[in-house]
Amino acid sequence: MPPLYLTEARRLPVERQLRLTWTDGAVDTVDYDVLRGFCPCAVCQGHNASEIVFHPPQAAVEITAIQPVGNYGLSIVFSDGHGTGIYRFEFLREIAAGLPPDG
Ligand SMILES: [Zn+2]
Repeated sequence: MPPLYLTEARRLPVERQLRLTWTDGAVDTVDYDVLRGFCPCAVCQGHNASEIVFHPPQAAVEITAIQPVGNYGLSIVFSDGHGTGIYRFEFLREIAAGLPPDG
């Protein structure tokens, strides 16, 4: 299989979801709060985390910025000021599919 890439990441402000369109034609939507809760950074997950744990956000969040990271992931900045997580594409797919993501 060719590597998976995002062709578009679009914020849906009313639904408070991020819509992800992939090179294989799949389209996923993921709630902002789910993305925030699965933030993969070391602050949220701990430095030696062997699996990613969902930490529900204290309050509903918005996404204030999205930046591509290399050709493998996205950096997402949330309205609570947190933005150190790098969401690899495979990781986003797992979250979108409702699977427990690998670290
Ligand atoms: Zn984090």
